[in-house]
Amino acid sequence: MDVPCVRADRAAGEETRRALAAADALAADREIVVEDDVIYIPVDDADAVPSSFEVVRREVPERETQSTPADVLGFEPSYERLGDVVIVDEDDDERARELAAGIVESDLPVETVLNRASKVQGELRVREWDVLVGESTETTHREYGCEYRLDLAEVYFSPRLATERHRVSSQVEAGECVFDMFAGVGPFVIPAAKRGATAVGVDLNPIAVRYMRENADRNGVADAVTAVEGDVRDVVAGEYADWADRIVMNLPHSADESLDAAVAAAGEECVIHFYDIQHEDDPFGPGERAIRDAAGDAYDVVVENRHEVRSYAPHEVNVCLDVRLVSG
Ligand code: SAM
Repeated sequence: MDVPCVRADRAAGEETRRALAAADALAADREIVVEDDVIYIPVDDADAVPSSFEVVRREVPERETQSTPADVLGFEPSYERLGDVVIVDEDDDERARELAAGIVESDLPVETVLNRASKVQGELRVREWDVLVGESTETTHREYGCEYRLDLAEVYFSPRLATERHRVSSQVEAGECVFDMFAGVGPFVIPAAKRGATAVGVDLNPIAVRYMRENADRNGVADAVTAVEGDVRDVVAGEYADWADRIVMNLPHSADESLDAAVAAAGEECVIHFYDIQHEDDPFGPGERAIRDAAGDAYDVVVENRHEVRSYAPHEVNVCLDVRLVSG
């Protein structure tokens, strides 16, 4: 029997499945089918599918019963997946262990379950974890056709920003010079290089830089990505003054301290994606003023997009300003 299915690139399968789960559109009684590079994800209700997805009708087998963490636990637990790692966020250790046991007992392909043990902290924005199940905090995460190897105990990485990273990298055109000032394991520079850009990623964290190189290689763009270890303010002054067509500044709370370096790195015309976390009453004002101050008379500043990425905390939002600098 034909049923409605979302057709997507296989590489974006997990991302698509998650978006459909969030829209409560998945058909739990049907199997997902993969054919070559295409994945077909059965849905219960085609009208519930976000309009960005393509819906087709085709035959897919009925699912042999697979148990989910909710089946095992008797309630829907909240967790995130990153490769074969599952992340929970529970203050109560006993409850965290109960969730971990249910998750492992289900049919999810899981090697490690981690509980958040701190906020992201310090200059390197790394979090502490309680390892509830398994041993390794290293995993391989896939999003939008790219694959990232990373160790959550050593580097910053958030799967929640996948859609935002895709929004930015989709704007990159072949031939651009893209400069990521706070590049982590490479989730902006690698998709940019795959679209034909020459990309430079800078990070203070030597382990992130090592993964960025490994990931560039893994994704077939080692020739187009230069990973540089250091404080971006020193790196720009050396080699990358007047270089960039596009700059990514994903260090909310303190990216403003590197705006002078961003202006120095900008070419004749340059788009900056500036991330910030601010009070909901004026989420864009402080960033916009800081960018205009840094640009001074050297550039006209055109704000092309004021984009809310996600809610961060009560009354605080994570935002991105997409700003074009045009040499005055
Ligand atoms: N862009 C990456 C991502 O989306 O996964 C990483 C973003 S993380 C919020 C910020 C990164 O900036 C961290 O990896 C940290 O080590 C790096 N960092 C902090 N201060 C820096 C500086 N002054 N120069 C270069 N990198 C810095």
